[in-house]
Amino acid sequence: MSMRIGLGFDSHAFKTGVPLVIGGVKIEHPEGLAGHSDGDLLLHAITDALLGAVSAGDIGTFFPPTDPKWKDADSTLFLDTALEEVALAGYKIVNVDCVLIMHRPKIVPLAGDIRERLADLLHLDIKCVSVKGKTPEGLPQDGTAVCHVVALLESIELPNEHKQLAIAADIPDESEIDGVVSSLVSDAHDTSALGRKLPTFDTDDLT
Ligand code: MG
Repeated sequence: MSMRIGLGFDSHAFKTGVPLVIGGVKIEHPEGLAGHSDGDLLLHAITDALLGAVSAGDIGTFFPPTDPKWKDADSTLFLDTALEEVALAGYKIVNVDCVLIMHRPKIVPLAGDIRERLADLLHLDIKCVSVKGKTPEGLPQDGTAVCHVVALLESIELPNEHKQLAIAADIPDESEIDGVVSSLVSDAHDTSALGRKLPTFDTDDLT
């Protein structure tokens, strides 16, 4: 079994006249968060943490803010793409830990609803989803909401029946089986068919 870790960050300015959505939960508040999409900084930070954990780029790689297609988009769409990338890489989420930093609204009274919604979106037990709130003491960020997320992933183990088939086929090593499965999944994953952009960085430059 192998493990991966990803770090996500996002920030959005508060703005009157738009709804406030955090972690897929609509919250009654005089101001929402400005953004090209629905401004859900928590889902954006989780999306980046998941994509980062499998080295699949970041949210802007798949959903550039310059593309009018994503104007006012529901951020669960971004998260679903990240979940797909995690699965295609052969991993599943172990847990996520999230920190929201803002003066208002207070996060503690909302954390239960947000955790429940995130557990549903991430297909996780609620015990594996942590949401914490901090006030930005000493930081000049009155009109801004900030979010940090860490996500831990572990590799998906092959079911026993697949292992038995592999033994019958005389494939000697489990890592070899994983390699074959990863290769098949990778070949089947045609990002162009989904209208996606490949990561903007050149993987050969990663030294
Ligand atoms: Mg964002």
